[in-house]
Amino acid sequence: MVADKAADSGNENNDKLDVLKSTQTVVSNALDKLGYPKEVFDLLKEPVRMMTVRIPVRMDDGSIKIFTGYRAQHNDAVGPTKGGVRFHPNVTEKEVKALSIWMSLKAGIVDLPYGGGKGGILCDPREMSFRELEGLSRGYVRAISQIVGPNKDIPAPDVFTNSQIMAWMMDEYSRIDEFNNPGFITGKPLVLGGSHGRESATAKGVTICIDEAAKKKGINIEGARVVIQGFGNAGSFLAKFMYDAGAKVIGISDAQGALHDPEGLDVEYLLDRRDSFGTVTNLFKNTITNEELLELDCDILVPAAIENQITEDNAHNIKASIVVEAANGPTTMEGTRILSERDILLVPDVLASAGGVTVSYFEWVQNNQGYYWSEEEVEEKLHKVMVKGFNTVYNTADTRRIDMRLAAYMVGVRKMAEAARFRGWI
Ligand code: GLU
Repeated sequence: MVADKAADSGNENNDKLDVLKSTQTVVSNALDKLGYPKEVFDLLKEPVRMMTVRIPVRMDDGSIKIFTGYRAQHNDAVGPTKGGVRFHPNVTEKEVKALSIWMSLKAGIVDLPYGGGKGGILCDPREMSFRELEGLSRGYVRAISQIVGPNKDIPAPDVFTNSQIMAWMMDEYSRIDEFNNPGFITGKPLVLGGSHGRESATAKGVTICIDEAAKKKGINIEGARVVIQGFGNAGSFLAKFMYDAGAKVIGISDAQGALHDPEGLDVEYLLDRRDSFGTVTNLFKNTITNEELLELDCDILVPAAIENQITEDNAHNIKASIVVEAANGPTTMEGTRILSERDILLVPDVLASAGGVTVSYFEWVQNNQGYYWSEEEVEEKLHKVMVKGFNTVYNTADTRRIDMRLAAYMVGVRKMAEAARFRGWI
């Protein structure tokens, strides 16, 4: 278990775009507001465990390539740690640490019996074959097998990982453990103990937050103009849910560009034509840039792609009255301040994107009890959890006169800090 300093230096941005630093600042502000002493922050500012691994994979051309991977476990005072594994060429150690803290916050906000964890592997799955991806997935599980497990740390899908990758990982872990162990990982295919509704859960959770936020702002979803940045798992399902609810999806984007139609895009056509990595705009001539997309005249803006998209440079030009963060970390601290000053209702990532881990929790519960729920049961339970999480955060923000992000962090850290205190750690 060594921290790999060298591996994370290449992608570092300046302080304002440093997601770990800004997360630590908001955690510190939240703990101050709750009246906790400094030791609590010292415990929670970094993961309790961070593992760096090297994974050798035999490539299709016969060569061996060594990949670098991470697993961060933020805090296990409440219960086992939980969170996805991302496959992406820009993964850094710092980012994985920040993402593990966000998972703890999500679990706290929607009241799950977990702490946060996160994994990442530096690779580009768009350029790898099926077999190479299988080798990498299995190699990662072998490398981290000692620190994960159904009651220790439970991985799940994240950026560019899916149910097939979860299946290989589950199979590898079950071989090591010498018995079938579905509760080791969530986001599995249904036939291997996955849960109904898991694939669309993040987008469902975002939809529920949009509904609640729209009620507060007096916006009718039917006919509302929605812009979605990102057409991956969250963005694509969300476009469908919004379209089905009668909203006008007037803008979407992927990593290559963005599309805009003030009359509403043909969402079904776009869903039909997107590839498995969420790319579709390359099929069109009249595209706009991702920067232009964010500033479109609309009612609801959903950043569902990557970090640091709404910053001090463009927050003044955002025209939406509600911004719901389906991605992790799309708005910087300065961006948050500007949106809040402009009275734009910002539903923060740690709340808005908690639907995924919530249904992952349902999957784990179903695996543990060996009894499976219908899609309706999952949906009903998810709805209850998200509405409660939204209102707890909204009311905290309202009574304390603070922005929704700080309120969400306060709600998110409280349980963890209390659990650590009862255990006698602080
Ligand atoms: N990767 C998802 C997230 O960031 C889901 C994690 C999980 O299901 O454990 O929330």
